Amino acid sequence: MNLDRKLAILADAAKYDASCASSGTDKRSSIGGKGIGSTEGSGICHSYAPDGRCISLLKILFTNFCTYDCLYCVNRVSSNVPRARFTVEEVVQLTLDFYRRNCIEGLFLSSGIIRSPDYTMEQVVEVARVLREEHDFRGYIHLKTIPEASPELLARAGRYADRLSINVELPTVQSLAALAPEKDGAAIRRSMARLRVSIDEAKEARRPRPVVAQPMLPPRRARAPRFAPAGQSTQMIVGADTTSDGAILSTSAALYGSYRLKRVYYSAFSPIPDAARALPLKSPPLVREHRLYQADWLMRFYGFAHDEIVPAASGMLSLEVDPKLAWALAHRERFPVDLNSAPKEMLLRVPGLGVKSVGRVLQARRVRQLRAADLERMHLPLGKLLPFVVVADHRPGRELDAAGLVRRLAPPPRQESLFA
Ligand code: SF4
Repeated sequence: MNLDRKLAILADAAKYDASCASSGTDKRSSIGGKGIGSTEGSGICHSYAPDGRCISLLKILFTNFCTYDCLYCVNRVSSNVPRARFTVEEVVQLTLDFYRRNCIEGLFLSSGIIRSPDYTMEQVVEVARVLREEHDFRGYIHLKTIPEASPELLARAGRYADRLSINVELPTVQSLAALAPEKDGAAIRRSMARLRVSIDEAKEARRPRPVVAQPMLPPRRARAPRFAPAGQSTQMIVGADTTSDGAILSTSAALYGSYRLKRVYYSAFSPIPDAARALPLKSPPLVREHRLYQADWLMRFYGFAHDEIVPAASGMLSLEVDPKLAWALAHRERFPVDLNSAPKEMLLRVPGLGVKSVGRVLQARRVRQLRAADLERMHLPLGKLLPFVVVADHRPGRELDAAGLVRRLAPPPRQESLFA
């Protein structure tokens, strides 16, 4: 099989992994020479570096051959798809070629399980080692790690990769047992804990020491090696089972709390060919995945606890309005909030105010009483904000109680694409 064919198969097989995803783009294809640029099938996706830069990554599997039978996965052993496998040298060469042609700034490498978790992990780590040690590759490397692989291999992966990720795949132990019987939830968490400890130790060892005047300085020691400086992340599949949004967010909160993950990615289940009967026939609405990301953001940056974002009665996030607005509408007694005196924690809960705009409000109110015109100058979404806030020359009337408020604030319905 030639390299182009392998690349087509293994880039396509990698697209289901959302833990490094080019999200938010419409489907465009330049296959057949129609136009320039494509967001489909090229194997190049966008991710974000720790400093916020958007970077392009070559996103591929080492192989889509797999001995496991995870029911939701197109690469499972019982799936009838064409298989391919790169060699270590091929992945290295592809990465260097794409890099030199300025198409990518890094590599995202995952793999199905061949022979054993250790054997597979060795191949994946070897790609990163050759890139770093033999070619002095300075680009970004994200390696998907296999939780059952030995701690030594995970430790080696962390020396070469910027980011490591281990997919928890499904939000509950029960769903993992039902849909991915070979995967071991306890092993996944053990490996995450190991990575956490190694990341912390490496950070601590590399922290600059305070300079103290000493008559006899000890000999200079080499700097401690790096270990996955961009941290670890994971992915959860949404909609392959009946787990509620409340339970999904509860799992995310536990993962953030226990292992301080950089990100939990949510990937809407997409039906696969020859799917098992246990799986739904349709994907969940994409907006559900979007609402989970919004709720995740609220937990990480806005001070919301996971169990206050989701209504206890339904256990599901509203698809109609974003979770912060839904929370405000369900807690109208906490509003209106006085922007000139409310504490930061409450400002963060006001619909229409983001983390940055809360900072601007706090700064501006130090020097003067805020008025509606100040909010306009800050380019804040007044239609969403004004029903929930008080400023020097504005106090909402009865609109906060009005039954039509949800209708007014919900985004207008959007027509589905003809090609969806
Ligand atoms: S281990 Fe499971 S999820 Fe991963 S490639 Fe194999 S079948 Fe797919």
